[in-house]
Amino acid sequence: MTDTLETVLGTQRSAFMSHLPVPAAVRQDRLKRAIAMVSENADALCDALSEDFGHRSREQSMMTDIAASVAALNHARKHLSRWMKADRRPVQFPLGLLGARGRVEYQPKGVVGVIAPWNFPVNLVMTPLAGILAAGNRAMVKMSEYTPVTSELMAELAGRYFDTEELAFVTGGVEVGQAFAALPFDHLLFTGATGVGRHILHAAADNLMPVTLELGGKSPVIVGQSADIARTTERVALGKMLNAGQICLAPDYMLVPEAKEAEIVDGLTRAATAMYPTLLANPDYTAIINDRHYARLTDWIEDARARGAQVVEVNPAGEDFAASNSRKLPLHIIRDATDDMLVMQEEIFGPVLPIRRYRDMEGAIAEVNGRPRPLALYYFGNDASEERQVLDRTISGGATVNDVIFHVSMEELPFGGIGPSGMGAYHGRTGFETFSHARSVFRQSRLDVAKLAGLKPPYGRTTRSS
Ligand code: NAD
Repeated sequence: MTDTLETVLGTQRSAFMSHLPVPAAVRQDRLKRAIAMVSENADALCDALSEDFGHRSREQSMMTDIAASVAALNHARKHLSRWMKADRRPVQFPLGLLGARGRVEYQPKGVVGVIAPWNFPVNLVMTPLAGILAAGNRAMVKMSEYTPVTSELMAELAGRYFDTEELAFVTGGVEVGQAFAALPFDHLLFTGATGVGRHILHAAADNLMPVTLELGGKSPVIVGQSADIARTTERVALGKMLNAGQICLAPDYMLVPEAKEAEIVDGLTRAATAMYPTLLANPDYTAIINDRHYARLTDWIEDARARGAQVVEVNPAGEDFAASNSRKLPLHIIRDATDDMLVMQEEIFGPVLPIRRYRDMEGAIAEVNGRPRPLALYYFGNDASEERQVLDRTISGGATVNDVIFHVSMEELPFGGIGPSGMGAYHGRTGFETFSHARSVFRQSRLDVAKLAGLKPPYGRTTRSS
């Protein structure tokens, strides 16, 4: 397999080098084919996603995987010519006066590797490709083994819409991932777990390969005293239950004012019930990806219960999930969550929502800052100075105020984590720049600048005949 991977990389790299530069028309054409690959096969992709998840609605997949991918690719098509323009920089005195010029030219890097996770297997391949193809690169993509049907279909479609010299897909498990990360790409984008990100960075070090790591973490929701509780709980419940919480940006835990905790639990329950009055046969509610993750989540709920948490299972129709074999898991609100519980130690990645009470905002901020830097931070409230305080005193990959997740949907906002939640960013122009090499080009004037600036030996003496 390694041989094959190396061969594909070698073929892509020599094709890349022999077709430099990469004109805008070629990039437009690749982006167009990427759009066609997804939009002309939307139904088949939605079916594949549903089969992989056990159940996932067409509406959800259309929104989170198909439409989101097409939007990112279209955005790149629209702005490509502007992004590609060289960026002239002012030349300082005295070089400027002598007619020298300086500019930054954006060159493609070459062959970019992409390692994708299972939670949005179409989106998290095609959105990176928007930046990668816009920047004029070729790409190799390693899909997740947890979504075998979607992964195989994506590989087959890529073969129909692209030459393998332009875009090649690889399927397989961890060993394939390891072999893939060991390849000397010109850039590697990894989206996945923080622990695996460490291995990727080690592997990349051997090749001095630049990497972008899009990782996970525990993204907090801070509810201020001034927050509208009905609106807050509706938005948090919607974000937490989308894809059954299997989203890197899902609100992981909530920090709420002591006196409002009961009202918030009540609001979350109400909102979840209104959206999903039943769950088992409800086509809108996604199942947990596999038995291993289902068992992990139910173990963590039991662990919280055993450690004294009050667990609110939002099961309005009183359905029997254990007996159903459906891998559907209702929203579980964990009241009085404490640090010793598993749900407070790692990223949850499922419909389980621990709630912690705080006395004052300083305490809530200290709690966030006492944990690893998260991928996202959410603040709800209508108090501008408190909002400023939260944004100024915490550090996270991104932030949304008065909602959750939404910052990812704005193409022109850089998307990425910080520290253990990631390294580097992409989306929109930032993606184009991440996958381009910003090459400085200096153009000298006709004048003998070195002499005029005193840079030419002999130094400090004037030539004089004795
Ligand atoms: P994962 O890290 O287990 O797997 C991701 C990919 O890496 C898969 O294709 C897998 O085969 C491969 N892989 C696994 N071990 C590897 C190794 N040692 N070397 C090379 N490749 C390896 O992640 P997952 O379970 O698929 O996805 C869930 C995680 O991804 C969560 O932590 C979530 O927060 C994160 N995530 C982050 C983002 C983001 O944009 N920041 C988006 C989605 C998911």
